[in-house]
Amino acid sequence: MSKRPAFGTPLHVGRPNIGDKAAFLARVEDMFDRRWLSNDGPCLQEFEEWMAEFLGVRHFIAVCNGTVGLEIMAKACGLVGEVIMPAFTFVATAHAMQWVGATPVFCDVDPRTHNIDPSLVEHLITDETTGILGVHVWGRPCDVEALEAIARRNGLVLVFDAAHALGCTHGGRMIGNFGVAECFSFHATKFFNTFEGGAITTNDDEVANRCRLMRNFGFDGPDNVVSVGTNGKMSEVSAAMGLTNLESMASFTDTNARNYRAYAAGLDGIPGIELIEYSESDRCNCQYVVIEIDETWSGLSRDELQAQLTADNVLARRYFYPGCHLMKPYASEPLRAQLPETERLASRTLSLPTGTAVDERDIQAVCRLIGDAVNAARG
Ligand SMILES: *Cc1c(COP(=O)(O)O)cnc(C)c1O
Repeated sequence: MSKRPAFGTPLHVGRPNIGDKAAFLARVEDMFDRRWLSNDGPCLQEFEEWMAEFLGVRHFIAVCNGTVGLEIMAKACGLVGEVIMPAFTFVATAHAMQWVGATPVFCDVDPRTHNIDPSLVEHLITDETTGILGVHVWGRPCDVEALEAIARRNGLVLVFDAAHALGCTHGGRMIGNFGVAECFSFHATKFFNTFEGGAITTNDDEVANRCRLMRNFGFDGPDNVVSVGTNGKMSEVSAAMGLTNLESMASFTDTNARNYRAYAAGLDGIPGIELIEYSESDRCNCQYVVIEIDETWSGLSRDELQAQLTADNVLARRYFYPGCHLMKPYASEPLRAQLPETERLASRTLSLPTGTAVDERDIQAVCRLIGDAVNAARG
């Protein structure tokens, strides 16, 4: 007979953070009374205004999900031909470019930051390159200044996938203000959710105008279609969830920071287990607690540790494995790059459960399980 799992009910990565349910339901009641369920309704307008103010950005354009947001952003910024991006990201970053007819060209990452390595970007630029798409992985900002300098020198458009980075700052400035435009995701598993949703942010009026048109079939007023577009609108019920979760966002962040500190204390000194760090000087939402497993010290591989945790109902997750460049739609590309750091990271990182569904006692128990697994493996 197998032993009983340490956790009776599974501990998941990415359980949704949910704000005040009563406040949400009151908004939904009002929404039903108005019979205004989509198309620039009052919740959507309030959500966009509040978010633009929160981020200190001129334009916040809410969309139905982050992937469609990336597609609209790419079209609105003129990304065609080749777009340089990391492979250590969620596959939607690559899919969105491919979907709009651009070719992702994968660049390796900096093993310290897990973000696209600017020193490798220029080697990948060809006559076909139109842009660079950085990803703020785990909410840790890319080397924005280095990428800006490369984009400027080579006449390229710089944009960011900021799906992880709502509420994070870089040099004291909110993510959402960098490059020509940035794109967020508010999917249920992200730290801030609108069920499904996302947003494009920009300080460029023309880009914003194009995004707004494309989000709504290219309509510029009734009966006046001025461009090709898609349906990227965020519904009222999602915007109502966004407003509700905005009211609780500070407490989500506090909980994540507390959880992160509990993990840091609990994992301290376990050989071969290193917790990723967040900047002391910048704000971060800390929504990901990611460890790197160095098998030479821990005595067991990431996959072995993951399997042992799963047996105890701790459902830690591999992220981005094995890297976009090795996934079927991209693996046969003639441009397929050698990405040793991406592959190394994809094989040694593990994301641990956090968020408002996890408390400090859970975390202490998870850390003990990890410590015990390493002790046993080292003999
Ligand atoms: C979640 C995510 C997306 C996709 O966002 P959706 O809202 O799920 O479509 C894109 N890029 C990254 C890095 C993500 O984590």
